[in-house]
Amino acid sequence: MARIEEASVALYGLPLGRAWGDQTHQASEIEVVIVRLTSEEGIVGDGFSWTAGVGGRAIVSLVESEIVPRLMGKEAAPRPRWHELWRALHDAGGGGLTTTALGAVDIALWDLLGKQLGSSLTGMLGRWRETVQAYASGIDLNMSIEELEEEVRRWVGRGYEAVKIKVGSPSIEEDRRRVARVRKIIGARPLMVDANQGWDVTGALRACRQLEEFDLTWMEEPLVSDDTLGHAKLRAASPVPIAVGENLYTAYDFNRYLALEACDYAQPDVARVGGITPFLDIAAVTSAWNVPLAPHFMMEITGQLLCCLPGAFLVEDVEGGSLSELGALKEGIAVQEGRFHPPEDPGHGIQFDFDAIGPFRKA
Ligand code: MG
Repeated sequence: MARIEEASVALYGLPLGRAWGDQTHQASEIEVVIVRLTSEEGIVGDGFSWTAGVGGRAIVSLVESEIVPRLMGKEAAPRPRWHELWRALHDAGGGGLTTTALGAVDIALWDLLGKQLGSSLTGMLGRWRETVQAYASGIDLNMSIEELEEEVRRWVGRGYEAVKIKVGSPSIEEDRRRVARVRKIIGARPLMVDANQGWDVTGALRACRQLEEFDLTWMEEPLVSDDTLGHAKLRAASPVPIAVGENLYTAYDFNRYLALEACDYAQPDVARVGGITPFLDIAAVTSAWNVPLAPHFMMEITGQLLCCLPGAFLVEDVEGGSLSELGALKEGIAVQEGRFHPPEDPGHGIQFDFDAIGPFRKA
């Protein structure tokens, strides 16, 4: 197997086409960390990770100072490398910046392995389905109700069969108005809402009861993600199913949530959990609990994984947030008629346009 001879890491701040707003965040750019690994035969693997604006430079520093020295000369084998690196970095935290740094490295290892074998990522993992259903997702709490309606009409026009909007307006009455308008536009299509960890248990339960009549597929992140017991208490009383996972970091986190019956849908983020290797472990955990997998963000890579996992439910296509829409790729990977089609090229097939993103380099 190929050995790793070179490694580089870079941070970019890619501007969003429209500023994002939810109950707990405002964002005008996405930080993308790109790790490039080169084998002794000259095969190059690219991996990537992201932040919503916090921690990009710390991730670069972790990769440079703690990860690269432990990778040099080692075989480019994702699973053994991931587990030895996670153990090595664990004193700095079992999840968070450490796993987000590992995410870029692990994805680069899988890309390198695929290119060495001449196989696509879905070819290596084995396809369960040719395409996977995507849902349109908006970071749209900062939109007027008219802008929100226009956004959702656009999604329906493009063929999306499921949509998600933000909730957490200053009043629950305002959330009810927004959700009611969207429900009217989309008819019987699945509708999800996302509160971005903004409520306490009492507020979240009130919101779930007030929004029950709109037949929501899930209420996402009603509480701060650290509060597993609060989620368990809420889920036991809520008339709306609960989705959690974009701020969980390890298979242990997901197993704890599921063992405590604290969520109905699992939403791991492939970068934040540490890459493809731990994502597959988490998928095994959620499968064992018979809970649908509806991962967060990172559509271009997550869509490929969902084509290979029997328990997969939906891939999230965040409007304006895909690497393609951020202008980071040589060739965009688009959702067509509401379905994600995986690339066929060796590796993950996600090719960065380094000329285009060069001006946005931060570190
Ligand atoms: Mg969310």
